[in-house]
Amino acid sequence: MQVPASFDYQRAESVDQALELLQRFGEEARVVAGGHSLLPMMKLRLARPEVLIDINDLHELDYIRQEQNELCVGALTRHRALLESELVGRHFPIIHDAERVIADPPVRNRGTIGGSLCQADPSEDLSAVCGALHARAVIRGRDGTRTVDMAEFHQGPYETAVGSGEMLIELRLPVLSASGSAYEKVERKAGDWAVAAAGVALSLSDGRIAEPGVGLAAVGSGSVNASRVEELLLGAEPSEALYEAACRRAAEDCTPVTDGRGSAEYKRHLAGELTRRALRRAVARAAATEA
Ligand SMILES: Cc1cc2nc3c(=O)[nH]c(=O)nc-3n(C[C@H](O)[C@H](O)[C@H](O)COP(=O)(O)OP(=O)(O)OC[C@H]3O[C@@H](n4cnc5c(N)ncnc54)[C@H](O)[C@@H]3O)c2cc1C
Repeated sequence: MQVPASFDYQRAESVDQALELLQRFGEEARVVAGGHSLLPMMKLRLARPEVLIDINDLHELDYIRQEQNELCVGALTRHRALLESELVGRHFPIIHDAERVIADPPVRNRGTIGGSLCQADPSEDLSAVCGALHARAVIRGRDGTRTVDMAEFHQGPYETAVGSGEMLIELRLPVLSASGSAYEKVERKAGDWAVAAAGVALSLSDGRIAEPGVGLAAVGSGSVNASRVEELLLGAEPSEALYEAACRRAAEDCTPVTDGRGSAEYKRHLAGELTRRALRRAVARAAATEA
């Protein structure tokens, strides 16, 4: 049985205390939330923090609430809470689509949105979802709070804009009228990581697509830049010809590699096809709310 190297353990009682501990221990310290990604990495010696700062008592970071035209989700919100939230389902069906196929109930009971995004695994589902939704990440350090667009949050595989001595506090998701969103994922077996996945979010204005967002998972070495697909969709009238063009661009712009989950060619094909399907469903959902 694999066990992690020894480490010191601190249990924070407030965000301020967690930040103070992060400052005190610097690069040697890591926050632990659900632990479903960090602990396996420690067992494999891919991460060797000397101090773990447990944030599971920070209930102040566990919430889903609407503030004007944004949905605010605390970093410690569990997958299960997202899946069971009526508010989330109403405004962002893409999150429910994704959560239904993330791992299994034990992982969803403990794993958090903050941990998922900070892990920055290229195959991770909520990062693609938050990218499609043009979410903003609220990051706090001892010197204050800053907000980062999702396009800048992921800086490479397993790298984020959260700096030393900082924590992710909240995700802010813009609530749009006449909007629709959807997530499509292919996995080898139920509960597995994606072979490839695509999420699309948009709104409809006078029958044309407004504010499109596209996120792809597992088809690049980090988060995939889908801005060319978004440019194609912006202001366009939904049609099968448009979906075909979006499918082609998504397939062109991703950079998958061959691995145990499939060949690069197969993943490229999936990236396009799943974008087409998510787009079609997002448009149908937006049209239903518009009617
Ligand atoms: C068997 C299994 C199957 C899985 N399948 C999937 C899947 O299909 N799709 C998918 O998307 N995910 C999957 N996961 C990952 C799962 O969703 C994890 O819960 C998630 O990746 C990490 O969340 P966590 O709260 O457990 O984070 P942790 O493991 O606690 O932390 C992960 C990283 O984030 C950092 N961190 C955590 N919270 C913060 C914060 N607030 N601020 C700054 N840094 C922070 C930690 O320091 C660490 O570096 C799977 C996991 C397992 C074990």
